[in-house]
Amino acid sequence: MEILKNYINGSWVGSKEQHSVDVVNPATQEVLAKVPYGSNTVADVETAVGAASTALIEWRNMPVMKRVQSLYKLKQLLEDHLDELGRIITLECGKSFAESKAEIQRGIENVETACATPLLMQSEFSENIASGIDEFMIRQPVGVCACIAPFNFPGMIPFWFLPYAIACGNSFILKPSEKVPLTMMKVFELIDQLDLPKGVVNLVHGGKESVDSLLDSPQVKAISFVGSTPVARYIYQRGTANGKRVQAQGGAKNPVLVMPDADMEMTARIIADSVYGCAGQRCLAASNIITVGDKGGIIKDALLEAAKSKTTGFGLDEGIEMGPVITSESKRRIEKLIAKGIDEGANLLLDGRNANISGYEQGNFIKPTILENVALDGEIIKTEIFGPVMSLIHMTKIEEAIDFVNRNQFGNMACLFTSSGLNARTFRNSANAGNIGINIGVAAPMAQFPFSGWNDSFFGDLHGQGRHAIEFFTQTKVVIERWPKEWSRKF
Ligand code: NAD
Repeated sequence: MEILKNYINGSWVGSKEQHSVDVVNPATQEVLAKVPYGSNTVADVETAVGAASTALIEWRNMPVMKRVQSLYKLKQLLEDHLDELGRIITLECGKSFAESKAEIQRGIENVETACATPLLMQSEFSENIASGIDEFMIRQPVGVCACIAPFNFPGMIPFWFLPYAIACGNSFILKPSEKVPLTMMKVFELIDQLDLPKGVVNLVHGGKESVDSLLDSPQVKAISFVGSTPVARYIYQRGTANGKRVQAQGGAKNPVLVMPDADMEMTARIIADSVYGCAGQRCLAASNIITVGDKGGIIKDALLEAAKSKTTGFGLDEGIEMGPVITSESKRRIEKLIAKGIDEGANLLLDGRNANISGYEQGNFIKPTILENVALDGEIIKTEIFGPVMSLIHMTKIEEAIDFVNRNQFGNMACLFTSSGLNARTFRNSANAGNIGINIGVAAPMAQFPFSGWNDSFFGDLHGQGRHAIEFFTQTKVVIERWPKEWSRKF
C-alpha cells in the first residue's frame, strides 16, 4: 500500500519519510491507508513552509473580493461531494453516516461565513481627528498560518480556520490527525480544482515531529490547534515562546444540571443525544449529569430508556446511530475508566462493555453506559472519558450544583434544563464555561460565533470561527496622516 502523499505548492508529492502508521477503520480494523510518520516529516514541513512563504507575496496583494471567489467554488464542490466525504469520515473515524454528513455541513457553513471577509476585514476610518489629520486602521494578513487538527471531526474542524485564514490573505498549512487523514485528502483534491495560486494551501502529514517543526519555524506566524488539553497547553507554550500567535482548543468534561421542573422526557432525549452522539467523542458531549432537587427517579428511567434505544454498529449500515470509538486502545482506556468508576463506588446502571456487534466483532464498540451515584472526588468525574459514558450525580440545591460546575478544571460547556426563567438566568450568568445550553445540548456554535472555551479547554485569546477568526488571521495597522490645508495653495 502506497504511503499517503502531501499536498505542497499545488501538487501531490511523496513524503521524505519512509516510515508510516496505519489508518484503520475502527468498525472493522481494516487498514485503509498508510500515513507518513517520523522525524523525516520535518523536511516535508520545511518544503511546505517555503511554498507557503513564496505564495504569500502574490496572495496577500490580491483584492479580497477576488480571494473569496475561490471559497464560493469550494462551497459548491463540498456540497457536490457531501456523500462521498461523509462516507470517508465514517470509514476512518467511525461515526454514523448522518453525523459525518452533518459535520461537513458545519464546515461548509464556515466557508460561507468566510465569504463575508471583504466586509469583516474592512478598515475603520476617522476623518479630521485634528485639523487636517485623519487616522485609520487597516487589517493585513499575518503570514503563513498552520492548523493542527484532532481525530474527532476530520471534516469540520479545519474549516474553523482555513477559509478565514486564506480569505484574509494568509497562506495555510494543515496537519490533519494521523488517525483520520483521508477526509482532508479528499477535500484537498477539491481544493486542487480551485484556481488558487500554488502554495496558498498545503497539507502535510505526520505527528509530533511535524507539529514541532511548525511550532519552531520562524516563517510560521500563527498556529490554530484543536486536540487534548495536555497537547493544547504544550502547543500554546512552545508556539508563543517562539513569538507566534496561538489559539489552542483543548479537552473537556461537561456538566449538565437537571432541575425538578424540567420537562423530563424531552430532557432525557436531549441528554442521551448529547452524551452518545459520535460515541461520546465530542468536546461538547454531556458527561456528568446532575439531577438537582428530587432524587432523579423520573429522569433516570427516561435516560435509561433513551440510552438503550441507541442503535450501535458500523456507521454506513442503515439505521445506525452510534459507531465505534476511534482505536482499540481508546476502547480499553474507556472500559478501564468504567471499571474505575465501579471501584470508586458507582452503581453500573447500564453496561455497554463487551458489545457484540454481529458482523463487526473486531470493531472498537462500546454501547451506551450509565453509572449512577458516582463519587464526587472520583477519577471518573474529573477525567475526560471521550466515550459513550454518562455519570449520574444527585445534588440537593442549584447553588451546590453551580459550585460543582465552577470547580471544573475544564470550561467547554455547561447545560441547564428547567422551566424557570430565573434559574436559567442565574445559571447563564454564573456558570464558568464558554458554551452554555439552556434546555438544549450544545453543538458546535454556528459559524458566525466564536467556538468559545474557558479554563483548561482553551489557551489563547481569540477563538476559531466568525469575527474572532478574522481578528486572529489579521494584524492591525493604524495609520495617521496629515494633509495641511496650506499645501493646497503651494501645489
Ligand atoms: P490529540 O491531542 O491527541 O491530537 C491532536 C493533534 O495533535 C493531532 O494532529 C496529533 O497528531 C497532534 N499531537 C498529538 N500529540 C502531540 C504531541 N505530543 N506534540 C505535538 N503534537 C501532538 O487529540 P485527539 O485525540 O486527536 O482529539 C481528541 C481531543 O480533542 C479531546 O480531548 C477533545 O476534547 C479535543 N477536542 C477539543 C475541541 C474543542 O473545540 N475544544 C474540539 C474537538 C476535539
